[in-house]
Amino acid sequence: RVLRNRSLERVLPIRNLCSDASSNNPIRATLFPGDGIGPEIAESVKKVLTTAEVPIEWEEHFVGTKVDPRTQSFLTSESLESVRRNRVGLKGPMATPIGKGHRSLNLTLRKELGLYANVRPCYSLSGYKTRYDDVNLVTIRENTEGEYSGLEHQVVRGVVESLKIITRTASLRVAEYAFHYARANGRERVSAIHKANIMRKTDGLFLECCREVAAKYPDITYEEVIIDNCCMMLVKNPALFDVLVMPNLYGDIISDLCAGLVGGLGLTPSCNIGEDGIALAEAVHGSAPDIAGKNLANPTALLLSAVMMLRHLKLNDKAEMIHNAITKTIAEGKYRTADLGGSSTTTDFTKAICDNL
Ligand code: NAD
Repeated sequence: RVLRNRSLERVLPIRNLCSDASSNNPIRATLFPGDGIGPEIAESVKKVLTTAEVPIEWEEHFVGTKVDPRTQSFLTSESLESVRRNRVGLKGPMATPIGKGHRSLNLTLRKELGLYANVRPCYSLSGYKTRYDDVNLVTIRENTEGEYSGLEHQVVRGVVESLKIITRTASLRVAEYAFHYARANGRERVSAIHKANIMRKTDGLFLECCREVAAKYPDITYEEVIIDNCCMMLVKNPALFDVLVMPNLYGDIISDLCAGLVGGLGLTPSCNIGEDGIALAEAVHGSAPDIAGKNLANPTALLLSAVMMLRHLKLNDKAEMIHNAITKTIAEGKYRTADLGGSSTTTDFTKAICDNL
């Protein structure tokens, strides 16, 4: 397969309603720095975008696990309104307590903003050597239903039940997005990832919807791959894949596997696509509590998410400029964060990127 210039891809909501660079006014975008390493890497993004003179005005909102002392809330209606109004934003990671406490803020955001597809490009960064140098795939994750909704209850003592709900509406919508994305970005193949041999009704319906949409895109090759086999194939030869579309929980897991192919979670960006043309970019990784507050986090994943956001806004020159500065800095090797085998702080790595702009 011919490798494209990976940063040139656009996330392309089916209805793109947000403003773009054609206007002279700065673009307003929402920023949720989030939890854990979120504020540190969000600071890095702001610094790089300011140095690159990107015409963006951030509307920063507190959303996270610490209750906002002003509103006594984890997530305010003002924060949601900000994304609805701006239609574009960047979010840091949000922590979710395991097995107790409040519901995931990520789930709430996805539900409230109708963020139905999560686009996760995964590609080898030139200048950073891993076992593979030709990874160039995109996972598209259904973002609103399936096991990941966390619909669970206790049936009787010692027995719990989890509901996996798959609907025709959500499956058709994400499949349509995957094919639309593939065609718009010159990609050739869409693989639907499933476990319909066991989950016959739920994954069966998901596949039925993918097939229905595939029939409308004769220019795109369509295939179906069972998830366990998909994991083996990805590890053995990731170049076998182009665009992968899958139900929610599979997307959550497969995208971390993919991150591992190219150097880890410090490098992989994503963007959530919403019903009203909303694009909310975020890194694939979580709040990394083990390194939070230590100035050790790699800001690349959030920076590349910001690059996706800039491409969506048609700020292509700025997107390219920042993408090139990141890859150059990593390739030079002098300033790398610990996850990439270096000893740079987040601040020094960020400064090196700014110097390379
Ligand atoms: P994690 O992604 O936070 O961390 C996994 C490992 O990767 C850790 O060792 C961490 O140090 C490392 N890592 C992650 N991002 C890094 C970066 N930018 N630079 C360097 N190293 C990085 O996953 P986890 O520990 O399973 O989850 C922690 C919390 O994050 C949980 O509360 C979870 O619910 C939440 N989470 C949120 C999101 C999101 O907001 N989208 C996604 C995943 C997990």
